[in-house]
Amino acid sequence: MMTEAESKGDHERLERLRVLFLLGETVEKLVRLRQILKRQRIFVGVGDKKAEYASVIDPLLKAVEEQSERLALNSSRINSFLGNAALDEAQRTALAAIIQKVINVAQQLHEILILLPRETVEPQIFLLLRDCFGEAWRETPVIMTNELTSYEYRIDDVLDQLDIGQHSLEEWRRLLKGFTRGGSVLAQAFVDRDNPLAWAVLAHEFGHALDGKRISREIVYGDQAVEPRAAEKDPKVKWAAEIFADFVAARVLGPASQMPILLLEMSRPTLVRASDEAPSHPPTTVRLALVREYLKGLGVGTGRFDEVFELYNFDYARKLSALDEAERSRRKEIEAVVEGFLRSHVVAVAAKVNSLSVRTFGDREFGHARKLERQLQSDLPISSFRHASDDQILPELNSLVGSGSVPERVYEVLSGFDETPSTSSEILTAGWLYKLASFEERLKDSFHGEDGSAH
Ligand SMILES: [Zn+2]
Repeated sequence: MMTEAESKGDHERLERLRVLFLLGETVEKLVRLRQILKRQRIFVGVGDKKAEYASVIDPLLKAVEEQSERLALNSSRINSFLGNAALDEAQRTALAAIIQKVINVAQQLHEILILLPRETVEPQIFLLLRDCFGEAWRETPVIMTNELTSYEYRIDDVLDQLDIGQHSLEEWRRLLKGFTRGGSVLAQAFVDRDNPLAWAVLAHEFGHALDGKRISREIVYGDQAVEPRAAEKDPKVKWAAEIFADFVAARVLGPASQMPILLLEMSRPTLVRASDEAPSHPPTTVRLALVREYLKGLGVGTGRFDEVFELYNFDYARKLSALDEAERSRRKEIEAVVEGFLRSHVVAVAAKVNSLSVRTFGDREFGHARKLERQLQSDLPISSFRHASDDQILPELNSLVGSGSVPERVYEVLSGFDETPSTSSEILTAGWLYKLASFEERLKDSFHGEDGSAH
């Protein structure tokens, strides 16, 4: 048990971390939105036939700049906060409110991107997915979306929703055959186009494509005969599908797979109503707990990611306590039901995921990622890494001098220079570890005090 003072200290630490992450997300979103809009302006400028867009982009850019200015106006306050100056509770609450306001506008602006010409994804996205999923990968299109959340949809579902006759349906299926090879389309938030760390969410979305609503139905109903339409509407099948996709993502990417969704949820001002969320998604706290247990079962460490997981739960508890009594108890009830159900099926879900032929992320890969993170700290590329350190190689090389070594021995020593290619999951994990370790310093560089000095 913690003493009162310890628990107060812990609360302070997490509250500071919460504001820090919120600030980090805000700055990143503003920078990325500005990049997108500037790129769009160049694109639109090329063809004057698209003149109608020009009148949209400039006001949007102005709206982004206004939010940047709002942060800049508060830079001395932010600077004190970053410099660990003791802000009293009122000051800190005011700061958090300002940052929240900025991120709310940034998120609304993102939805408006639907008005602009849609960009295509970076081709490296496919390299990442192919590398992670190995034999299980099927060529699947990825598109950019204005919605902040990523998602997966099946072409067949889209057709079904058209509510057209059987004849037209068959005709469309025939026409879309080339497109529907995998049957799914993965959608990624526009703002994350240039952010490889955020591509982690696509592993979850491809998990849905692998499921194809078939595996999740089996998890819930086994070989029991069930009408497919009824199964599809069953929330239990949807909950199982989410956990299946979460475990798939954790299997190929490890703890980094959780980061985009947690950051997104932390940057939302309030919780989604439990009754709106529960029919399709289990509460994120339940998902996170199950993923952490799954990773533990696989023997994969979570390292610095644990701090973010802890912070997520802290942020959640804070938002939970802000709810009115009725909504809070409704949420708790729903959570207990969903968690009870998923816990009774979690072994089956893990078994299904573990049987897939994917390239798994294990503790060895996590170790490699830590090595790569150190390379990033030294500004070195991380596409490969050397197993032997300079300290190990140097004495070996010296041992060759003047000893008349046999060629075999020379080759053996030289093999210490061999580089092993990094996997995509190691690169992505290293990127997240580096970001988590360095973003506070980067923020300090960005916000200067009233005297113009950076802390
Ligand atoms: Zn999902």
